[in-house]
Amino acid sequence: MAQASEIVPGFDRRTAEALANRQLKIAIDRTAGTARAKRAAIVGEWPDFAVARAHGKAIKDHVVAHLGHYLAEFERNAVASGAVVHFARTADEAATIVVGICEAAGAKRVTRSKSMLGEEIGLPHALEAAGIERTETDLAEHIVQLAGERPSHIIWPAMHKTREEIHELFKAGHAAPDLGETPVEMAASARRILREKFHAADVGISGANFLIADSGSVAVVTNEGNAELTTTLPPVHIVTAGIEKLVPSAGHALQMLRLLVRSATGAAMTQYTTFHTGPKRAGDADGPREFHIVLVDNGRTRMLAEEGGLRDMLRCIRCGACMNHCPVFNQIGGHAYGGTYPGPMGAVLTPALDGLSMQTRDLAHACTLNGRCREVCPVDIPLPTLLRGWRTKSWREGLEPVTMRSGLSLWRSLATHPLAYRLGVAAASLALRLMAGRSRRIRRLPLVGGAWTRHRDMPAPSGSTFLNSAAARARAPGRGKGEIR
Ligand code: SF4
Repeated sequence: MAQASEIVPGFDRRTAEALANRQLKIAIDRTAGTARAKRAAIVGEWPDFAVARAHGKAIKDHVVAHLGHYLAEFERNAVASGAVVHFARTADEAATIVVGICEAAGAKRVTRSKSMLGEEIGLPHALEAAGIERTETDLAEHIVQLAGERPSHIIWPAMHKTREEIHELFKAGHAAPDLGETPVEMAASARRILREKFHAADVGISGANFLIADSGSVAVVTNEGNAELTTTLPPVHIVTAGIEKLVPSAGHALQMLRLLVRSATGAAMTQYTTFHTGPKRAGDADGPREFHIVLVDNGRTRMLAEEGGLRDMLRCIRCGACMNHCPVFNQIGGHAYGGTYPGPMGAVLTPALDGLSMQTRDLAHACTLNGRCREVCPVDIPLPTLLRGWRTKSWREGLEPVTMRSGLSLWRSLATHPLAYRLGVAAASLALRLMAGRSRRIRRLPLVGGAWTRHRDMPAPSGSTFLNSAAARARAPGRGKGEIR
């Protein structure tokens, strides 16, 4: 069974295509720009944000340090409430368990609410391979399904689409050639289509935002109410969740929720927050007859033991803030990363889940190390440090291309011989100035395949090296020896 989290080869090609796509840039700017502004406003109004962030980090670190204890407690309480708990070591195992439950229930049609874990374990593909009709019920996931694509962002899966593109998709996919192009008209059309699917579904599949150990409950948050219809109308509800979603109690879940929602959407609270505890009981108005929870490892316990602090990544609450603030993500969008998880968190997580390879090593290099992702992360994950860790490991394992290895070796020998270094820098500076000519702009750099100058030009060097400028300043009257300002 194919694992959907496996990264698609061709990072350079995808990046070049994304940079050349002006519609994509317009779509990303609209959504990410709004997300950044709303997050900044709501965090600015929250005087205790730093305290809540430290608290959130401490909660997640505590759970990760006692993962075995909380897993056992969660399983005990979930089973006591009537749920069936399954453990999956790998993505394939998880998808097989979910398909098996669907087949045992005789399911022909399933509805899904948004879950990146479902993408990670390849569930859309596994359901289709088993001949089970799958309907994505989150509005953005519905758009992505109609387009035959994968999500490009963990909070806004259709971030890469403009409203105009969605309008065309809906006209064709909803068989509604006269559909109006206002958001209200398009949402009404999706509601009409999806409502039939909700009523016809044999199984509803959701993710989980939090797994609550002391009650065995599953917390799910949405803004559209689609998760509630997915989880309560069909006779069978399946939850798929990574084991890092555990928190000790509902109180802890609510503390994490404040951080999650503000960081993800810039709102104080989601429209719907639902706690599921077991299947329908006597006297309940609605709910599923069977309630299954599939707990997925897929490399998470390996991250606990990995060197380089990868266990910090298990704090991630999937808010997407690091993507919205990443200058690279904002240029290339999520699909260019090629895996399930894009942006800074994806660049750290994908090699951890899929293994470091010629494909996944590229992700750590697609980072400017500006540190904005860590600043906005609500659980203070040191993403730039973790990305540097992957670069180091990639170098040690010999995954870097020969050109980079020999270039860096040359750099190292120059940097350890000051005279040669100064002569080399002066020669390179002169060559670049000659290349730039009168325009003082460099439009194509040799030896780097044009990658650095394909989408923008580069100013020529000023003529004085940093060391020369520093020495001149130090000699200037009124400056102390060696002082640089
Ligand atoms: S790494 Fe931090 S900012 Fe990025 S999705 Fe995870 S919790 Fe959010």
